[in-house]
Amino acid sequence: MYNCGPTVYSPAHIGNFRSFLFADVLRRWLEVSGYEVTQVMNITDVGHLRDDDPETGADKMEEASRKEKLDPWQIAEKYTALFMEDLDKLGMLRAVAYPRATDHIPQMIAQIEGLLESGHAYEAGGAVYYAVSSFPDYGRLSGNVGEDLIAGARVKVADEKRDPRDFALWKSDPHHLMQWDSPFGRGFPGWHIECSAMSQSLLGETLDIHTGGEDNIFPHHECEIAQAEGATGKPFVRYWMHARHLMLDGGKMSKSLGNLYTIGQLEEMGHPPIAVRFALLRSQYRQVLNFTLDGLKEAASSVRRLRLFAEEMELAAGDAKPADAPSWITAAVKRFDESMDDDLNTSGALDGVFTLLHEAHRRQATGADAASALAALRRFDRVLGVLHTPTDDHGLSEAADEEIEDLIRRRTEAREAKDWAAADVLRDRLAALGIELLDGKEGKVRWRRTGTQSPPPR
Ligand SMILES: [Zn+2]
Repeated sequence: MYNCGPTVYSPAHIGNFRSFLFADVLRRWLEVSGYEVTQVMNITDVGHLRDDDPETGADKMEEASRKEKLDPWQIAEKYTALFMEDLDKLGMLRAVAYPRATDHIPQMIAQIEGLLESGHAYEAGGAVYYAVSSFPDYGRLSGNVGEDLIAGARVKVADEKRDPRDFALWKSDPHHLMQWDSPFGRGFPGWHIECSAMSQSLLGETLDIHTGGEDNIFPHHECEIAQAEGATGKPFVRYWMHARHLMLDGGKMSKSLGNLYTIGQLEEMGHPPIAVRFALLRSQYRQVLNFTLDGLKEAASSVRRLRLFAEEMELAAGDAKPADAPSWITAAVKRFDESMDDDLNTSGALDGVFTLLHEAHRRQATGADAASALAALRRFDRVLGVLHTPTDDHGLSEAADEEIEDLIRRRTEAREAKDWAAADVLRDRLAALGIELLDGKEGKVRWRRTGTQSPPPR
């Protein structure tokens, strides 16, 4: 599986992360389903032009380098490191490789040479262009035809192109800061050739899955297909999957509109990154997802509820091992699995997760049932990845007042129902949270924090 990764010229924003996170969830679900996944995500550190700037079409790396007074290599280093940090904070599993474009120039040059030899490309004005007319399938993925097939249409069409649809594989520009020698002269690769050359050199001529954001469909992925299939004559990708872009407060979020959040900014505002992960998982990847700060707060409280639930089931299970799961657990598991199999419907899968939680609470599950519920939850979390994060979780595992009151209410109900086992579990749970219960008048229980919270059981 190959995922189009970040262009490392600025911090990735949560709209970018929606696409990367969807790839993480896809990989996790495939692995839980018994597949072995070789995941590769590229790092674009050269050649990605700002094609929405009609004047210059400037290289994003070079633009950042001028702005920050660092050379493009330092910019790449800085934002690649930041990307890796963010990725860990979001609980994303590491891919087997994060190939950098600048480390694969020879592979790109080889692919371009092959395309020149087979007549899919031509040299003009110091550049090499792909001859779109030589590849009749161009436009198949995006469904674009005619005028819509002109890549970077708003950039002034280079005069030396034979066809306005043609796109650059190699460019020359004496002012460009990142340059390499090649058989076609000194210059630098286009963005699209990076992904077809790197994915094929690491994963072979045909990939099972290639992902990206929906903005990548055209021209980026259309061009990748033309290059890869033009070079090998074999199908390039069996399944293309694209995440829908993210909306922010009802509008499109994008770097060019300047309305976006980075993980760092949200953290500074007090939002734990793992809540961002949960917020992005709440909608299926191809659905419109409207990101709001209120939604993010709800996501944080959902994560906290799931963590408290896990601890509670652990206590309630005691020494018991999971046995034959009762139907309320198998039904929740079925809901989760069927939703994930339905084109990664994470929203339906979360229904399964919270059904498990509600039913376990309603039934005051203990012993083997609690152990089975915990096993089901841990399996869900192999996909969701929200129960534990290696980084600071901003107090997410601490119980809020309403959650403590909920535990007390359920303990009272258990006592009234003479379910002493359940009542004891809830008492222990409250004690573990450092909550002291005080005798109240007329059966009302008051409580206070003693400040001696024990670490959650593992
Ligand atoms: Zn790509």
